Amino acid sequence: MLSILRLNCISCGHSVNLHEDVYADYEGLIKCDACGELLNIKIQEGKLRSMAPGLVTGISAAKALSAGATAHLPGN
Ligand SMILES: [Zn+2]
Repeated sequence: MLSILRLNCISCGHSVNLHEDVYADYEGLIKCDACGELLNIKIQEGKLRSMAPGLVTGISAAKALSAGATAHLPGN
């Protein structure tokens, strides 16, 4: 059964779908299809562990989005 990991771009909020068979264990950059933002993500065992803007590290958003497979924009 194919699972889709659904992330929300932290720049524009666009839903980004990733195939779990490819991204079940992944750490690195993905690109938002909508706004082109680079997102630095870490996925382990099919769960999103962290997400941060690809060009910035160590911001609070990485902690705020550290739990669960679905990320939400702050205040959204
Ligand atoms: Zn985006």
